[in-house]
Amino acid sequence: PGTLYVVATPIGNLDDLTPRAARVLADVSRIAAEDTRHSARLLAHLGVNTPMISLHEHNEAQRVDTLDGYLSAGESIALISDAGTPLICDPGFVLVRELRARGRHIVPLPGPCALVTALSGAGLPTDRFTFGGFLPAKPSARRQALEKWQSREETLVFYESPHRIVHTLEALCEQMTERTVVLARELTKTFETFLQGSPAALRDQLAEDPNQSRGEFVIIISGAPPAVQGDEQSINANELLAALLAEGV
Ligand code: SAM
Repeated sequence: PGTLYVVATPIGNLDDLTPRAARVLADVSRIAAEDTRHSARLLAHLGVNTPMISLHEHNEAQRVDTLDGYLSAGESIALISDAGTPLICDPGFVLVRELRARGRHIVPLPGPCALVTALSGAGLPTDRFTFGGFLPAKPSARRQALEKWQSREETLVFYESPHRIVHTLEALCEQMTERTVVLARELTKTFETFLQGSPAALRDQLAEDPNQSRGEFVIIISGAPPAVQGDEQSINANELLAALLAEGV
């Protein structure tokens, strides 16, 4: 049987495609692509003419049997999305889950991913972070989601669309007033920018320069200050008492 390769593709700069990815895209029998017209540009740039089949959120479940049929016939397949790493806020999870359950050989090829690229350039702690995907579009749901994230002490990372970036900053002004926020915009592209500041400062900056709210964004938010634990306080009080008694005070 063939292999399913899960292939990361560029998030802007075409030079970021790895040589291994280019080789696999040329060598497989078929490429399952989120949007075949979009990916046709990447393949043309690479001079690759492997046939494509669409695989997007609306047909992913139905495609499993078709693609499994190709694999069992000995064909290898590459899965790509419009940009970055498939399955990361992109189609592919259902396919990979189902093919794994059927014991198929699956090989992921590492490469561009907006959240990792943003974190690696932002200068906020990276030892622990939570990726929250896209925040909900509706204001009430977004508020609730942010409430849920509010007490988390690790760095928070979200994807955001340009239509909502200002609304999200306004919500952060109310719900995460004191945090440091980094907006990583247009990563790997000509107008790549990192803006850092409080939610209010960034909101004002975007209001002054609307160009700064264009393009694609990753939002990175510093974690909540560590909570003082009730238990730790009482342990400390006991330690203090013991120390005082030992001193004969
Ligand atoms: N699979 C992709 C990945 O590996 O990053 C993510 C796909 S998701 C549908 C698209 C979102 O990723 C955008 O709305 C934006 O938040 C983020 N994104 C993708 N490319 C980006 C870039 N060049 N600069 C900043 N954010 C980007």
